[in-house]
Amino acid sequence: MSSCDQPGLMSVEQALERLLAAAQPTTEVETVPLMTALGRVLAEDQQSTVDVPPADNSAMDGFALRFADCHSGAETTLPIGQRIPAGAVPEPLQAGSAARIFTGAEVPPGADTVVMQEQCRWDDAQVTLAADIKSGANIRPRGQDIERGAQVLTRGRRLTPQDLGLLASVGIAEVPVYRRLVVALLCTGDELVEPGQPLPPGHIYNSNRYTLAGQLQALGFECIDLGMVADTPEATSEALQRAAAEADCILSSGGVSVGEEDHIKACVEKLGSLDLWRMAIKPGKPLAFGHVQGTPFVGLPGNPVSVFVTFAIAARPYLLKTQGAADYLPLGVPVVAGFSRPQSAKRQEYLRARLVEDDNGRVRAELAGSQSSGVLSSVCRGNGLVVHRLGETIEEGDRVPFLAFSDLLF
Ligand code: AMP
Ligand code: MG
Repeated sequence: MSSCDQPGLMSVEQALERLLAAAQPTTEVETVPLMTALGRVLAEDQQSTVDVPPADNSAMDGFALRFADCHSGAETTLPIGQRIPAGAVPEPLQAGSAARIFTGAEVPPGADTVVMQEQCRWDDAQVTLAADIKSGANIRPRGQDIERGAQVLTRGRRLTPQDLGLLASVGIAEVPVYRRLVVALLCTGDELVEPGQPLPPGHIYNSNRYTLAGQLQALGFECIDLGMVADTPEATSEALQRAAAEADCILSSGGVSVGEEDHIKACVEKLGSLDLWRMAIKPGKPLAFGHVQGTPFVGLPGNPVSVFVTFAIAARPYLLKTQGAADYLPLGVPVVAGFSRPQSAKRQEYLRARLVEDDNGRVRAELAGSQSSGVLSSVCRGNGLVVHRLGETIEEGDRVPFLAFSDLLF
């Protein structure tokens, strides 16, 4: 049984399942310097060949010593045997002495405790330590972060800034990543005009091109921008063939309804194969998936908000899986609804919402304005989407799943 009881409509889960089943992960690998690897997908597990830190080191500016040399319950005075700044190689600690030491410097062999300088009085020759010294204090042990041989990151990881730092911390200078997916983008519609041009009667500015190019770029894909495509079979067919020749995947906006001016369906069918799905999603609904001369094709609806939402919910996971990423589904975080909505009976709704903090410091999701599929400004006012599940009613105070834009645009 379908989880969606509207005849002819496919649930979002079913559509996603089909899309993801069709995704063929890339296998082409290239090696890139760490500095250019941000957002790329790791093609091999990465192991450490070193301990991090490589040796016990001091967490404080202070004095290194043997705990056994300290008096219990009274101050202790010890001669200073050596000075160890970060980057120096220490001498073994002589029993009954202390070493002046600085944050990040290696603890000398024989020392087991560092006393922070705030607990010390000293001159060039000797140091007097406070009475309450703790054994083993202020030492960051060798391998505390990473042990030699440990796996630090796994294949399929989309590299974050902290991942790059982690790889650098174990001495890795370059990483194998999957070749960047090339996505061709085309926007259909005779009513479209590029921003910067005068707006003739009957026209609107092409906004989807910028939304989608931005979404593709934010996810790290290479975008071949084919611009606007006129609503004729010839222009549509020509653009699709060029896209198929140059890209790993084709993404289009508009023209997937079944009106006389919607040529995508017929053209894709002629050049390959196409499934037209009516997803039970709002905003959205028509979603096309197929192949043009062997190249996968995803056709999104034309309305500016439908484009944004269907890209984030359907195309994003598909493209990320194709790119070789292991994690491609966004995490829906439960948040408290600051609004009520009647039962959503026909389609699963993705509501533009904004997390706001009330006077008591409690966070709730508020609707970010009009939920009409043409109102892009409410996407900009929001910082995520509340999922209004099929058949459910939302009462103020209910917990609802929230998909943060920071997750959907990464
Ligand atoms: P369509 O799916 O082609 O029928 O388009 C649905 C709606 O989205 C129509 O109102 C179009 O004018 C609008 N639309 C289509 N493409 C774009 C675009 N690139 N930028 C802004 N609006 C668009
Ligand atoms: Mg159109």
